[in-house]
Amino acid sequence: MQLLSPDGRTLAVNDAWKDLWKIPDEIIQNYILKDYNVGKDLQLDLKGIGHLIRKGLSGETIEIPPILYDPAETGLAGEPKWVTGYMYPIKNLSGELEEIVLTHRDITQTKKAEEELRRSRDQLQFIFEGVLDGILVQDKDFRPIYANEAAARMCGFESPQKLISASIEEILSSFEIRDEIGNPLPGEELPARHAMSGKGSQENVVMRVHNLITGEETWSIVSAKAINDEKGIPFMAVSIFRDITADKKRQERVLFLSEATNILSMSLDYRETLNKIAKLAVPKLADWCSIDVMEEDGPKTLAVAHADPEMLKFAEELTLKYPPDWNAPTGSPNVLRTGIAELYPIIPEELLEKAAQDPEHFEILKKLGLKSAMIVPLKLKDQTMGTITFIGAESGRVYNETDLEMAKELGARSALALENAKLYRRSEQLTKDLQNALNARDEFISVCSHELKTPITSMKLQFQLAEKMLADGDMRFFEKGVAEKRVISSNRQIDRMVRLIDEMLDISRINVNKLDMEKLPLDMREILEETLGRFENQFKSSSIEITTDLPEGNWFITGDKFRIEQVLSNIITNAIKYGGSKPISVRLLQNENHVRIEISDSGIGIATEDLERIFNRFERVASSKNITGLGLGLFISKQIVLAHKGKIWAERQQSGGTTFIVELPSDLPS
Ligand code: ADP
Repeated sequence: MQLLSPDGRTLAVNDAWKDLWKIPDEIIQNYILKDYNVGKDLQLDLKGIGHLIRKGLSGETIEIPPILYDPAETGLAGEPKWVTGYMYPIKNLSGELEEIVLTHRDITQTKKAEEELRRSRDQLQFIFEGVLDGILVQDKDFRPIYANEAAARMCGFESPQKLISASIEEILSSFEIRDEIGNPLPGEELPARHAMSGKGSQENVVMRVHNLITGEETWSIVSAKAINDEKGIPFMAVSIFRDITADKKRQERVLFLSEATNILSMSLDYRETLNKIAKLAVPKLADWCSIDVMEEDGPKTLAVAHADPEMLKFAEELTLKYPPDWNAPTGSPNVLRTGIAELYPIIPEELLEKAAQDPEHFEILKKLGLKSAMIVPLKLKDQTMGTITFIGAESGRVYNETDLEMAKELGARSALALENAKLYRRSEQLTKDLQNALNARDEFISVCSHELKTPITSMKLQFQLAEKMLADGDMRFFEKGVAEKRVISSNRQIDRMVRLIDEMLDISRINVNKLDMEKLPLDMREILEETLGRFENQFKSSSIEITTDLPEGNWFITGDKFRIEQVLSNIITNAIKYGGSKPISVRLLQNENHVRIEISDSGIGIATEDLERIFNRFERVASSKNITGLGLGLFISKQIVLAHKGKIWAERQQSGGTTFIVELPSDLPS
């Protein structure tokens, strides 16, 4: 204690003061009690209490906050110490200030103990913050009173402060807690409540927390313990959470992918495979899943899945009304082009607006509640065969990079399954084609033998008859008129056989690419006239009227005379065969730089759907069954015309009948 005068001088100090400050007596006598003025001590100003001292000197009662006093500052010996004090005014009877008592108290020990406590608390806090496990302390009303960063995060809060300042209602309405299997976990079963209710600690309870605000799902293992007061009544619960989301997700991924691989490997049907992939993703990976595939004639949506069939129907109608824009800069069309996956953790409204084709479409898209999306390529090596689109909607799921990785893996596996299905489809087609080819060959052999047998049988009959008549000495067969007729008929049969054999030879030449062509200048008008001349007898005997329009001019082409004649003969033979003895017309005209020949009949005609087919190998139209032929003539003709860089086709005549048109590049003088 120190007694001061109002002007700051020291009037007296007691022993305790001397003991506290450890100032030698000599200095007290010669300095403190003489020249020292506490109101002017700059040291006290530096420590921030000078103004308080001066206030005390003016008569106020003052509490002086703790200050650190280091004797070294004034050149004295001793340990630094924390000191607090009071200033009390002493007034005379008329209320005037006479003296001031300044007390001092050494609080170094208390201060040290406090500091020690704070340091160990900070250290504990520091350790708790660093722990990856979440630590949550709740009072008896389950209000959080302490949470570390990890606990706050697992409870879906940004920071421990936010969690602690949130109301219980706020906390409970921000997530939904389920057990490992997915059943809701009732409040009283939560480990902290369980422990507080006196049922004992709970350890390693697996909890699935679905954050209703962010849509995120996390998994934790929780252990909780109650802390009792001295009477043994629980007043606090400490819960430790371990986040096992990553492990659980990894486990789920492995399971899902192996299930997917199983399902995919079981299906060889292309469409079925796509549908299976889409269905597999719903609801485990998405609320909506659709698959777009690059087909020969462009991209197509081949599978869409949603848990609710009503929604599926709605989506179908929507797609009909607003077909996808395959040139869109984002989404499936873009992934199809680039092969690079897209992830939209949150689908922003602008994206929907961009995707919408009109305001009504935009409204519908908004109503569908599409929240999060990812689009991955169906990629095999570097080839993007299609895309899978996953959409999170009503479940509130939010996709992240881990989900994208898994979706990409599913995309890669699906692409492989799709390729297998495609190969299978192709091999099935090949088997079918092969079977058709075998059937056609068998039919060809049977038609061919029939075609050869008919003239041979007829000739054999002639010769058997001749043989018998010769044996009987009956010479009527050999009389001029009769013999001539029979020789002509036999010759015709031989011609027919020669033609059949020639056709077969041509086919085998075509098969080995050996249909050699000469390249000489040919006058088409001359060739047509010659060919028609050869048919003159046949036209006459079948009383077919023939009209020609063969104007003079430059009708030169380059080619093989024999082969071109073969084409024309074949068309004319058909016109006679299928023309029903009705008129035939032949025209020669110029079409740009082509010589064009049109040969029309008025016969049975050819159905539109058969017009192209008849130029294929062995193709014959069913209705002409009773007319003979191998179905090879037009096939050979087409090969010849193609070898001349020309075109041949058939058109239906409005009046019935058919027009065959041949166009060959003309040899125009340059
Ligand atoms: P084929 O030797 O059977 O006549 P082609 O290859 O010459 O063989 O003709 C193929 C098929 O085309 C014929 O079997 C016939 O059904 C049809 N066809 C060809 N020309 C005519 C035509 N002028 N009128 C009607 N059908 C025709």
